Amino acid sequence: MDSVLIRYHEIALKKGNRRYFIELLKRNLISAVKDLGIKEIRSLPARLLLTFKADYDTEVLIERIRSVFGVANFSMVERTPRDIEILRDRILESLDGSRFSSFRIDTQRGDKTFALKSPEINRQLGAAVKNQTGARVNLTNAELTVTVEILPRDAFFGFNKIAGPGGLPVGASGRVVALISGGIDSPVGAYRMMQRGCRLIFVHFHSAPYLDQTSQQKVRQLVTELTRCQFQSRLYLIPFGEIQRQIVAAVARPLRVILYRRMMLRIAEQVARREKCQALVTGESLAQVASQTLENMAVIQQAAQLPVLRPLVGMDKQEIIDQARRIGTYEISSIPDQDCCQLFVPKHPATRARLADVEQDESRLDIEALIRLGTTNATEEEFIFPAPAR
Ligand code: ATP
Ligand code: MG
Repeated sequence: MDSVLIRYHEIALKKGNRRYFIELLKRNLISAVKDLGIKEIRSLPARLLLTFKADYDTEVLIERIRSVFGVANFSMVERTPRDIEILRDRILESLDGSRFSSFRIDTQRGDKTFALKSPEINRQLGAAVKNQTGARVNLTNAELTVTVEILPRDAFFGFNKIAGPGGLPVGASGRVVALISGGIDSPVGAYRMMQRGCRLIFVHFHSAPYLDQTSQQKVRQLVTELTRCQFQSRLYLIPFGEIQRQIVAAVARPLRVILYRRMMLRIAEQVARREKCQALVTGESLAQVASQTLENMAVIQQAAQLPVLRPLVGMDKQEIIDQARRIGTYEISSIPDQDCCQLFVPKHPATRARLADVEQDESRLDIEALIRLGTTNATEEEFIFPAPAR
């Protein structure tokens, strides 16, 4: 099978922007498979058709398309001439040896000038399949669906649908900065925003040389994994140890975590301005840890002008873990590391910080200088998927 038929749902609903969404989806699909010998991409009503030169690894292709947001589902399909007899013979040949008890034929006639109408095509092909295999026709719950597309130049057939990730094509909803630790939550939060069409710029704060480099290594691996969905990522690594040291020198223990978080947001916001991003994303989930009470979230949020998006806010830890497993980040996140926020903080941080107290503590610090310390010492790394050929 040398082609893939791609179906999209949600983008089809966005009437005014449809063309823009489809262009983005096409561009993203091409990025996802560009090293697999893609020949052409055609727009059909509510579908896209990708044709390949040949000789690609089907499993790799399926895995690639599975991570392109905006794809509702897809089928591997084969091209034939527009001749019902050839089509029938090719379908029967492909089904030779496969076992199924019920089936249906689903024909879309993209070319309305074709001599036979869809129900007639379904009837003729259905009779042939039934005759060869002995399987029953079942229109509502078939074990096997044979997809047929009649187009102006050629025809295609394929079997069954493979689920895509749904959502919107990356880029459709704008750019956001994702704050990513080495933990379980923030990669899942980042993924959920990508699924809603955001392109992410990643920011990680590390406490080297006070702590080891594991968190940076983990974040590189996490960003590599997430880049499968957006093809190109930039990661800002920001040294945070010296900033923490200055906070520790000026501030009593209970509020330190809140001050760390507020500094992270301020610095991330500088990155967002530079990268033309419209929001910040965190992996916070309500009441999961002491720093994530409503009171603390409110006080932390007020350090930033841009909206702070928290896609996991209403999720249970178990739901987050399950999703982390599905998207391939759980294993990486589970590698033990030293989290920068555990540096110089008490076991029981304040759960109900008050803005006035926090601002009082911050008045002892040169906040602007601390922001500059973060931004000027930041380093950038680029990630590309699929990896360019060496
Ligand atoms: P995670 O599992 O993502 O680490 P968490 O449940 O441990 O989250 P916190 O440690 O309170 O929660 O962090 C809350 C959020 O703040 C994180 O989800 C992340 O978005 C951001 N954050 C925390 N530490 C860092 C860091 N070192 N670099 C970048 N962002 C961070
Ligand atoms: Mg954490």
